[in-house]
Amino acid sequence: MSLNCPFCHSTDIMIVEANAQQANSTLSNFASPAALGALGTTVAKSLNLPPIVGGIAGTVLGGLFNSFTEQSTPPQQSLCFCHNCYQKFPTHLLH
Ligand SMILES: [Zn+2]
Repeated sequence: MSLNCPFCHSTDIMIVEANAQQANSTLSNFASPAALGALGTTVAKSLNLPPIVGGIAGTVLGGLFNSFTEQSTPPQQSLCFCHNCYQKFPTHLLH
């Protein structure tokens, strides 16, 4: 399999993994439904509400937040990096 840069047609290219997943892991851990559920429970206790109310509200909010971040996160894909012209491009441009 020969790989050619679509910009300069050099073969001196390298496949690199996109690390969008990694950049988002901290945020999604923080905003996980379980974490927000626990947070909601704590808030509900301080407001003299039944903990289950806060737990449900937090979990729902977390679910909404996660579906939003999942939509805005680009799908995991491999990128190629050209050592000749320093362009980065998705692997599907290689054909
Ligand atoms: Zn190139």
